[in-house]
Amino acid sequence: MSAPQPQFPVIHGYAVKANGEAFVPWQYTPRKLGPNDIEIKIDHCGICGSDIHTVDSGWGPTHYPIIVGHEIVGRVVTKGDSVKHLQLGDLVGVGAQAFACQKSDCRNCQNSMDAYCPHFVGTYNAKYADGQVSQGGYAEAVRVDSNYAFLIPKEIDPQEAAPLMCAGTTVFTPMLHHKMKKGDRVGVVGIGGLGHLAVQYAHALGAEVTAFTTSENKRQDAIKLGAHKVVNIRNEDDVKQARLSLDYLLVTTNSKHTDWTLLTTFMDTSGHIILLAVPEAPVNFNAFALIHQGISMSGSLIGGIEQVRETLAFAAKHNIRPWIEKLPMKDVNEGIERVRSNKVRFRVVLSN
Ligand SMILES: [Zn+2]
Ligand SMILES: [Zn+2]
Repeated sequence: MSAPQPQFPVIHGYAVKANGEAFVPWQYTPRKLGPNDIEIKIDHCGICGSDIHTVDSGWGPTHYPIIVGHEIVGRVVTKGDSVKHLQLGDLVGVGAQAFACQKSDCRNCQNSMDAYCPHFVGTYNAKYADGQVSQGGYAEAVRVDSNYAFLIPKEIDPQEAAPLMCAGTTVFTPMLHHKMKKGDRVGVVGIGGLGHLAVQYAHALGAEVTAFTTSENKRQDAIKLGAHKVVNIRNEDDVKQARLSLDYLLVTTNSKHTDWTLLTTFMDTSGHIILLAVPEAPVNFNAFALIHQGISMSGSLIGGIEQVRETLAFAAKHNIRPWIEKLPMKDVNEGIERVRSNKVRFRVVLSN
């Protein structure tokens, strides 16, 4: 059998070439299409906060030039010889992960924790075993391991599916992990790209949802999204009433102004705080804040194969959709600027 011929031997996209620069047109030669890889012609890509941290080298030095974007939706145009579960023309999504080893001796891959595989390759700014840097979705095409391309349910508009690939999966994964259920009291800190989906997922699970924000103007939006209560962290009465009121608290903000000791006061006995965003400053709190109420705190990265599938299926079934602003891909700099200045309600999706 002759090797499949990729449609995009060279991929055109928008890259940042050095820290502090704008996105400019750029092209690269992708790595060879392996037997388990697919090539996707990209229709849409959401702008995730991680994209901005990466182009800014905020989490360590970035491999420039870099094309970011890991909320990708598009069509399969070429597939490797071993790919059986996808067909040419399938509408698929790709999130923050492009590869994991899937080996029988990998504890993480064998336990549906492949998002923590030691051989994890991120969709962009990561290195494959052959040394090539992965490039993301602000482009006309992308190649990924076919295990990390997911069929988009027909109920979901392709543009709206894009933010579910990273933001949606990131918020729903800890809900699955902790088996959150009807009647659980779930708080969400930060009503933005992640938080507005977290409120919807928790509401659909039947949880009693409290949204925490510092923007009074997000109160009505939070209620529309399904929050039963809204707490303005700057309002003393709101804060007092929320004491000891939660079983779980999902923290989706990366603000350096977050008062972690205050957040612990919202937790009831044995409550659990889960960090989903990476704060720009060390997380500080008085240890008594945890000990006094038997509170625990953990982090959660993204989701693996099983969690992404469940995220999409649950959204399709319960009509969970991101609120999006649409821009042509060529206006990527405008989209990034809107995210930086905190103007977006709640996710920008770029389209080719
Ligand atoms: Zn992301
Ligand atoms: Zn693995």
